[in-house]
Amino acid sequence: MTLFSLANKVALVTGGNGGIGRALALGMQEAGARVAVTGRNADKNRAVAAELAQEGAVFVLDVRSEAAVEEVIAAVMARFGRLDILVNNAGIGGGGPMMEMSREDWDDVMAVNLTGSFLCAKHAARAMTAQGRGGKIINIGSMYSMFGPDSFVDYGASKTAVLGLTRGLAVELAQHNIQVNAILPGWFVTDMTQEIYESDLGERIRRKTPAGRWGADEDIVGTGVFLASAASDFVTGTAIPVDGGYLVTDRLMHG
Ligand code: NDP
Repeated sequence: MTLFSLANKVALVTGGNGGIGRALALGMQEAGARVAVTGRNADKNRAVAAELAQEGAVFVLDVRSEAAVEEVIAAVMARFGRLDILVNNAGIGGGGPMMEMSREDWDDVMAVNLTGSFLCAKHAARAMTAQGRGGKIINIGSMYSMFGPDSFVDYGASKTAVLGLTRGLAVELAQHNIQVNAILPGWFVTDMTQEIYESDLGERIRRKTPAGRWGADEDIVGTGVFLASAASDFVTGTAIPVDGGYLVTDRLMHG
């Protein structure tokens, strides 16, 4: 369907070499986009390169460095000639009792999850406004953008701030026809959550989730394509949970 087609679009997905980022990258590719991804791990970068249709579409990037972000956005523009969609997906978990949390660990979670998203949005928006065709920025938040996690205050604060970033960018970039929205994933099985998935807690999460299961790659794609496509041209500054109902349930944790 044309409304949801990403034909002729170029998308950049940070942290797109695995997990939710890879799922979004491949989903957008299937919807017609030419897709570039970033990652740091060489093995994961090699693996995703084999799945992407375009040559030279994987860029090494640490989102904590503004110089590196600027360089990669310029490299994507040089390689593909345009940039229409940015997915700020790169993220780390953090966690631990707050009274023992070090300043360095706190700063690192903020640097990747919040500042990295700001930096990528800043340089992507410059490229998008220069080409004058509008664009889409999708920030990956979390259920912990919405409620207080136990022993993950750094992660929760960073992901709540991602909502503030989303709203501010949406207002400021609307004049350039750039829509900015967030996706709030529920519990998805990825490298970040594999250990929890395999533990007793993983089973309790499954039972608490109204859908009765954890999220899989294909569950995130539809919302990503919607927010990247013309179908969402009048949707901006909002956040869409993709969580099997986890955010709205008051079902008690059994067992
Ligand atoms: P993964 O650990 O599989 O993916 C994280 C990605 O971020 C990797 O590609 C990693 O690249 C990249 N990354 C980490 N640090 C940096 C950095 N400093 N610079 C650039 N890239 C970096 O986890 P998920 O797929 O689960 O997470 C993706 C996003 O989804 C994150 O923002 C996470 O917070 C969010 N999320 C995940 C949920 C889940 O249940 N899985 C739930 C809610 C939100 P590399 O491996 O090469 O370092």
